[in-house]
Amino acid sequence: MEVFVEKFADIKILRYEVPEFDKLAPQKKIYIYYLTQAALCGRDILWNQNNRYNLVVRNLLENVIKTFSGNRECAEFDRFVVYLKRVWFSNGIQHHYSTEKIPADFPELYFDELVKFSDWSVFKFPANFSKETFFFEVKNLIFNPEKEKKRVNLESNVDLILTSSNNYYQGVTQKEAEDYYANLKNKAGDEPVSFGLNSTLVKGNDQLHEHVWKVGGKYTEAIEKIIYWLQKAVEYAENELQKTYILNLIDYYTTGDLAKFDEYSINWVKEQFGDIDFVNGFIEVYGDPLGIKGSWESIVNYKDQEATKRAEVLSKNAQWFEDHSPVSEEFKKKEVKGVSAKVINVAILGGDCYPATPIGINLPNAEWIREKHGSKSVTIENITQAYFLESMGNGMLEEFAFSSEEIERAKQFGYLAGNLHTDLHECLGHGSGKIREGVNTEALKNYYSTIEETRADLFALYYMMDEKLVELGLIPSLDAAKAEYDAYLRNGLITQLTRIEPGKDIEESHMRNRQLISRWVLEAGMLEQIVELVTRDSKTFVTINDYTKLRHLFGQLLKEIQRIKSEGDFIAAQEIVETYGVKVDKQLHHEILERFRKLDLAPYAGFLNPVYELKMWPCGTPYDVSIRYDEDYATQMLRYSEAYGFLAKTGLY
Ligand code: ZN
Repeated sequence: MEVFVEKFADIKILRYEVPEFDKLAPQKKIYIYYLTQAALCGRDILWNQNNRYNLVVRNLLENVIKTFSGNRECAEFDRFVVYLKRVWFSNGIQHHYSTEKIPADFPELYFDELVKFSDWSVFKFPANFSKETFFFEVKNLIFNPEKEKKRVNLESNVDLILTSSNNYYQGVTQKEAEDYYANLKNKAGDEPVSFGLNSTLVKGNDQLHEHVWKVGGKYTEAIEKIIYWLQKAVEYAENELQKTYILNLIDYYTTGDLAKFDEYSINWVKEQFGDIDFVNGFIEVYGDPLGIKGSWESIVNYKDQEATKRAEVLSKNAQWFEDHSPVSEEFKKKEVKGVSAKVINVAILGGDCYPATPIGINLPNAEWIREKHGSKSVTIENITQAYFLESMGNGMLEEFAFSSEEIERAKQFGYLAGNLHTDLHECLGHGSGKIREGVNTEALKNYYSTIEETRADLFALYYMMDEKLVELGLIPSLDAAKAEYDAYLRNGLITQLTRIEPGKDIEESHMRNRQLISRWVLEAGMLEQIVELVTRDSKTFVTINDYTKLRHLFGQLLKEIQRIKSEGDFIAAQEIVETYGVKVDKQLHHEILERFRKLDLAPYAGFLNPVYELKMWPCGTPYDVSIRYDEDYATQMLRYSEAYGFLAKTGLY
């Protein structure tokens, strides 16, 4: 199977393989199949959450690509297709990563041409729009740079809600939303539900109220379908606890009751014995600048037996890692609990995990559930493998690595070391450490995500070079750790800049965290030249002169970052993130972009899903599931809109 599928704008589309799917028992395959259906049914929810106009714009663009009878063999039409592909990729009109509106690369006048020669006879125009006003509004939406400018604004000193154009709040100011949820939280006990996670906060008649996402509420058309497939899945669950948590989830979707979501989450954490698992719901809060609203996502996966052994070794030794970490004794957990570690292969990506996907999952997000019941951590093996296979052949390493020795190390150990870093980050890093009594993690506000990711990465980096890993049989030698240190700093100081537009600063929290760590150690090790930026043939490279000392710098920084989190030290968080994580060196940036441009690669990647087919006996009983990998990008997107366009069809905006 070929990993690379196609490239457009700043994006490459890849394919992941679902290893040994055919070897799974038919019952398990059927269970997976029903869950994959549920995973595809919420796609439109995310589109609507990202921006209220996304679905109507998608409807229009897809109608053009399906019915346009003008000349398709010209540069303008090609540019239109690229625009549509980018919108598909971002689940809306704003870039999936920068969250800024995607510029259309074709002339505004050509939009009229596209509309004119497309067939609108069966097109469903949204309510309250005439044909003409609809075309006019969509055109304005696409071409007016001031309209729906940015999905998630994280600048300081502005109203984050009013300046962000996601669809989580309507007519509400930041202050009003913060007060509203602070008030609910104050009334709650030690085990608060995640207030606001599953609703749109709306102001009407001077009153704030929540439009809850549930059966009979907002998004009901999609949620009912999700439930339909979950109900089918229940019958094929591997054990009783899986059945229970699926029923909890259905209950939650039906009532919108967040206490039921917690009940589901707790049972989900407890279920550790089955091979198959899934996430389906309103989970991550990155799409909301206030970090309250959950974007809809789904992943279905099954255990990778071999690789899971690796993570289990870490998990079994969690207490050793906690005890030996360089953070203050006061902030160490006396008892590290519930660190479950598993390596999985995904069978489907849905919602906010598609096409761009995380490479690891660590859930649930509710802090009190994590503390009391633990959490599940997984690394996604078949996705990381696809990335690695693609990256070894694209010329990046040869361009940006300092020496042939470094390239050799990357090829030899890069995959193993990268995976181990992710394991350490997910299985141990996030779960480590303790908050001081009375401190609320919300004290760090908009810096929380960056600080938390920094902490988990540093935990991983610090232990990467520990003899303990060799002793545990996880790496053959510390050369693997060197490969990871090379790769981390190369990315944090240099290659990740390829994802930033000229003149812009870094905003995404994982990118901020990587630069924060890299810049900090560069500066802290300056006198001893532990890490250096060197120039050769007018090209900048990172070189590490002393790996052991670098490890100690990671340890020092980990200690400070843990203190910031544990004490809820907002001022220090702001200071360190703004100093090291945000600003981009303009001259270096320019150089990197030039070198990158010459390689003609895309900085972002996403994945196509395989196509599953349920095999049934004539009587209608399923007996097996087949899998294939032959669908292309546009076909998959159009098929999803057709088969799972439950909200788009209602004309929701
Ligand atoms: Zn993380």
